[in-house]
Amino acid sequence: MKILVLNCGSSSIKFQLIETDSELIESNTDRCIAKGNVERIGTDEATLRVAVPPNPSKSTTEEILDHQTALTRVIASLKEGHAVADISQIQAVGHRMVHGGERFATSMIIDEEVEKEIQHCVELAPLHNPHNLRGYFVARKIMPQVPQVAVFDTAFHQSMPPRAYIYGLPYSYYRRYGVRRYGFHGTSHRYVAFRYRQIFGKARDEVNLITAHLGNGCSITAIEKGRSVDTSMGFTPQEGLVMGTRCGDVDSAALFYIMSKDELTLHDMSTLLNKFCGLYGISGESNDMRELMAASAKGDEQAKLAIEVFCYRVKKYIGAYSAALGHVDGLIFTGGIGENAPEVRALSCEGLCELGIEVDAERNQAVVAKEGEISTPASRVRVLVIPTNEELLIARDTFRAVRGLPHPH
Ligand code: ADP
Repeated sequence: MKILVLNCGSSSIKFQLIETDSELIESNTDRCIAKGNVERIGTDEATLRVAVPPNPSKSTTEEILDHQTALTRVIASLKEGHAVADISQIQAVGHRMVHGGERFATSMIIDEEVEKEIQHCVELAPLHNPHNLRGYFVARKIMPQVPQVAVFDTAFHQSMPPRAYIYGLPYSYYRRYGVRRYGFHGTSHRYVAFRYRQIFGKARDEVNLITAHLGNGCSITAIEKGRSVDTSMGFTPQEGLVMGTRCGDVDSAALFYIMSKDELTLHDMSTLLNKFCGLYGISGESNDMRELMAASAKGDEQAKLAIEVFCYRVKKYIGAYSAALGHVDGLIFTGGIGENAPEVRALSCEGLCELGIEVDAERNQAVVAKEGEISTPASRVRVLVIPTNEELLIARDTFRAVRGLPHPH
């Protein structure tokens, strides 16, 4: 089945055309036929980039004033690149939806009822859900006969028990406003956990895993027998690990102190917390791990400190989730940093022998931007690098939803 995967932002659309079905999933040979993006929608300088492997990617700059025109251009470019002969070959569309609140624990075919429920969740993700939904409206208009499926970042974590998702706040805030841990990056954590079990031929209920998605945004999840039982991001993606520009866990009273000292408004503070913290805030120079590693190697103390804080936080969470799970079979690193930075993986696992985690220095150095095991043969916990592929998981879920097949976590 040919599936168009869409990730719509306020002025952008990322897309992939993926061929998948049950057999291809089983043999891990489902593949991306074409991919690309449209940026700066709403201007006369929008760029449309499309790659149909093995051909080199093509980029054009043109006036694209709205998402409908953007998607029409995307589909035309798929025809021009011979990825599809005709629009009718696209059999389903899978949409990345950031927030499904407590209403969605699985991917759903979007009908009137589901659309209404997604609208209810807009309040929880005002910066993302409206744009994700816009992608749906536009795709429905252009392809009215084609089923559309919503795949939520939060759905995987709906299996968390209340002890993991309830905050130590007055309970009424949970009841009245839904303030609780939701967790994000669910498609990534689910994808790498599935792949781990596929590599070792294990059933869902045979393994407990800790999955660390370290990209610009970072989160880590404890997975017990295929179900997320705890995750580091919370009510919003602010909580947990130190990230590119977000601070992760911080004493909430410190924020009030800073606000009063610098006379900051709520808006100022929100900007500070989203854009100027984390690796960027500590180093004072960059949110890019590559640049920080290069600067640190040249003796830059602030860059070194940022990397140390980042890795120490990952290590603390590995310890916490080892305790939450009781027994851990595998630890997986993914995301731009997790896949490409052996130094970060080594530092995050340093001194965890007591927890059964031993990284092999040579293997670790050798696994960059590819799948591979990096633990020593004696390590009780297998440590793996597995490149994430959220679009592939969205395509697989879309296929299963359309065919009425169950969604294995
Ligand atoms: P996003 O969360 O936006 O999808 P990515 O998963 O692409 O982000 O991760 C981006 C991060 O990955 C950046 O901090 C970048 O520095 C880091 N990264 C990418 N390549 C490397 C590398 N070779 N070494 C270290 N870090 C890398």
